[in-house]
Amino acid sequence: MSAQPAPAGRGEPMWRHWIVGGVASTVANLINGRSIETAYRLAARASSPATLHSIQTWKLRRTLLHAARHSPFYRRLFQRHGVDPANVSHPAELGELFTTPQDLIDHPAEDFLCRPPQVLYETSGTSRRRKTIYYSHQEVESATSLMAVGLYHAGIRPSDRVISTPDYHYWSGGPWFARAVTKLGAFGAFPGKIPPAEVYRRLAEHRYDVLIGDVSWILRLTELAREQGAPRPLRLIVGASEGLPRRSREFIEEVWGARMFMCYGCTEGAGGMECRFRSGYHLNEFSFIFEIVDQDADGNGDVVFTTLDRTTMPLIRYRVGDVARLLPDPCDCGIVTRRLSPLLGRSDEIVMLGGEGVDPTLFEAILSEVPQVSGTWQVAIRRDGHQDVCELRLELDSGDVAVVAQQVKDVMRAKFETTWKDYQLGLFDLRFTAVPRGALLQERKLRRLVDERERE
Ligand SMILES: [Zn+2]
Repeated sequence: MSAQPAPAGRGEPMWRHWIVGGVASTVANLINGRSIETAYRLAARASSPATLHSIQTWKLRRTLLHAARHSPFYRRLFQRHGVDPANVSHPAELGELFTTPQDLIDHPAEDFLCRPPQVLYETSGTSRRRKTIYYSHQEVESATSLMAVGLYHAGIRPSDRVISTPDYHYWSGGPWFARAVTKLGAFGAFPGKIPPAEVYRRLAEHRYDVLIGDVSWILRLTELAREQGAPRPLRLIVGASEGLPRRSREFIEEVWGARMFMCYGCTEGAGGMECRFRSGYHLNEFSFIFEIVDQDADGNGDVVFTTLDRTTMPLIRYRVGDVARLLPDPCDCGIVTRRLSPLLGRSDEIVMLGGEGVDPTLFEAILSEVPQVSGTWQVAIRRDGHQDVCELRLELDSGDVAVVAQQVKDVMRAKFETTWKDYQLGLFDLRFTAVPRGALLQERKLRRLVDERERE
């Protein structure tokens, strides 16, 4: 169960939340669509913890009643847990009721959908366990407006020239950053995840001063700039999708002469952004209630969120799979939303590689097509310098490791284009190690995919 400090204002009568929350949300909706700067001032200056709490309580009640009425999945879940949505004022009161990523895979979309959807995204990466999240156009507009507020808070202004390189695929990264930068009013180019050299060549000509990209992609561009010289200094860099060790952040900042900020986000829509003090991600608590459940002694646990603004496919107490903690003290920047610590890891088997999530099923599928590899293998993600290394530790029945390496690459190129593209872009390196028979079975349970990268 969660044991986090309650926001101020808990215990206020419901009618007060309805008035304060309803009025504040209506004002925010009116402003968000018009001026990001005004929306930012409202979020940063005009809101207090008590107002935020009223907004959350009012929106939560609305969401729960809506889900109970329109979603067969939630209607059944509420019944099973004996929940009356009209009596819930915080998700923590729902006890052991959670929505898991597996629920999204096991149930048809119709079980979750509360009205006809207009847009879909899939969780990024190469996995057989693909999850689809549905939105309305208006929900995407609201989400990207708040994303723009986060980018504004990090320091991006309408006078900036932005190059944004998160990928365009079935996932939301590329299009959402493009929309958010557009809403900010900044000059922008949104080429997607193209080879870093293509952007490098144009940096000076197009006079970009802000760069947005996946961390591994930014690191490749930075290696290029270190080798060949930075064509122009940047002012600000925003990194997404992966963890960033301190020494890699220092390397990027030194080469570009810019400050780098990290953001946190997922296809399921929840997210946060570092502010200028760069101590944790300010969470979007206007649209989500975050909890940390199953906490250890340090307060680290599973990140769980409940959507507050979504009527197409609301998610209630969704266990996103990240492990982190909430930072207890208010931030010096003064914004009211709480901060999430850098991620400690995942509670499932997904590992970020080249900006996308991979899980053991990817390597199972690849290695099952290479007959010389025995059933005993492990894939480790390590770091070499500033580059990620995907090391395949293989017990071979026969054959030479170089031949097997070529076969693995052939299968990856033919069947897993996303992963192959990331490899081709140099976002990670592939290495192959033949291990002696039995060596991997020393552990009690062989973990197929292990993340051995340092986090600090
Ligand atoms: Zn802050």
